[in-house]
Amino acid sequence: MKVAVIGTGYVGLVTGACLADIGHEVICVDIDKKKIEMLKKGHSPIYEPGLETIIRRNKKKGRLSFTTNTGAAVKDSYVIFIAVGTPQTASGKPNMSFWKQAAERIGKAMQGEKIIVNKSTVPVGTTELLKKIISRYYDGEFHVVSNPEFLREGTAVQDFMKPDRIVIGCESAKAKKVMNELYKPIKAKKLYTDLRSSELIKYASNAFLATKISFINEIAMLCDNTGANVKDVATGMGLDKRINPLFLRAGCGWGGSCFPKDVNALIHMGKEHGARQRIAIAASVVNASAKVLPVKKVIKHLKALKDKRIAVLGLAFKPNTDDMRDASSITIIRELRKAGAIVSAYDPVALENAKAVIGDIEYHKNPYAALRGADAAILVTEWPEFAKLNFRKVKKIMKRPIIIDARNFLNKKMLKDMGFVYEGIGF
Ligand code: NAD
Repeated sequence: MKVAVIGTGYVGLVTGACLADIGHEVICVDIDKKKIEMLKKGHSPIYEPGLETIIRRNKKKGRLSFTTNTGAAVKDSYVIFIAVGTPQTASGKPNMSFWKQAAERIGKAMQGEKIIVNKSTVPVGTTELLKKIISRYYDGEFHVVSNPEFLREGTAVQDFMKPDRIVIGCESAKAKKVMNELYKPIKAKKLYTDLRSSELIKYASNAFLATKISFINEIAMLCDNTGANVKDVATGMGLDKRINPLFLRAGCGWGGSCFPKDVNALIHMGKEHGARQRIAIAASVVNASAKVLPVKKVIKHLKALKDKRIAVLGLAFKPNTDDMRDASSITIIRELRKAGAIVSAYDPVALENAKAVIGDIEYHKNPYAALRGADAAILVTEWPEFAKLNFRKVKKIMKRPIIIDARNFLNKKMLKDMGFVYEGIGF
């Protein structure tokens, strides 16, 4: 099938590359010329394990190409995906300007019957709006589909190829048939719904997962105050099949490009439609506390932070990605600096992106350089390499051996036996 993907970011690029890999002829479109130039040379503009190999393989086979020309890509394709960003605004409502621009451009380029699939995360009713926008420019036959994406950065390729489910909101038998055909090589449960339910499934799923994390984070705060161990509590809860152990790991809060924005969008949608989303609001409030908790723990040990050197290990919002959007490290570093600390940070892949978001702190290309002379260290992102650090060396180079493990990731017993002051989150 001939497919165009409008928006070549984390979702669009993975969608385009993977659809090419299962045999479709895909053209990826972006307004960012630099991105498209890189991709034309076979380089991925984002860090995503396995993605570059798939891009190169399919480019070579002539099944994957890149352009900045939306009109030409739309004209030449039968299925058109919209996968542009829908970032949040201050009110929590998504900024739909990129999406609107993409929809308008598709409308203007329509020629012949096409299936237009909305993959961006959008408020309920948006795919109906897509139909209206296209109809302004084109009076021939076309079908709209809502097909939210559930991939996770860091495991995006695997998530796309082996998803738990594929949700397809559509109104016509034709759209259903085409989508079924398009995804045929991917073995997963396909759920067909109406457009609005499909759109809400995405927000409800993300808000539910974020709430699950906030729940265990709040339990972790109670563990801190009672002496219980949140890892044992979570294990005990997770053994109940109705609860399951996933997303029950306490830490310094959820971030990234999706959870904060989608929870806020759900809250906003609830207000707009007279159905206040009180649980999502509470999850968000708990998350704000979870993000500052590691700093409070450092203050507990060091008292004043003025001119204290604090090493921050890990900046990306989670391991295996260079994405810094709404990363907990941003809040933690802001709070440390507010308290007068000198921050020295290390991340294996997110340093460049972090510089643009966090600004003027010390950035280091290896963890030991960041830890040298530190009065305390906060592990913010659980990159596997942090578990393999030479802690004998770490103890020697730090000024004080204080480790706040904000992801409960390190070997607590080993570190304590070595003489570190170790504190996790509820652990
Ligand atoms: P992104 O910011 O990484 O990529 C968006 C891309 O769209 C950018 O490259 C941008 O230049 C491009 N773009 C903007 N306007 C355009 C236009 N008019 N024409 C062509 N290209 C345009 O965003 P993302 O993380 O890939 O997210 C895309 C959507 O998918 C969002 O709605 C997001 O909520 C959703 N989503 C994201 C993830 C994730 O893990 N990142 C997971 C599931 C769903």
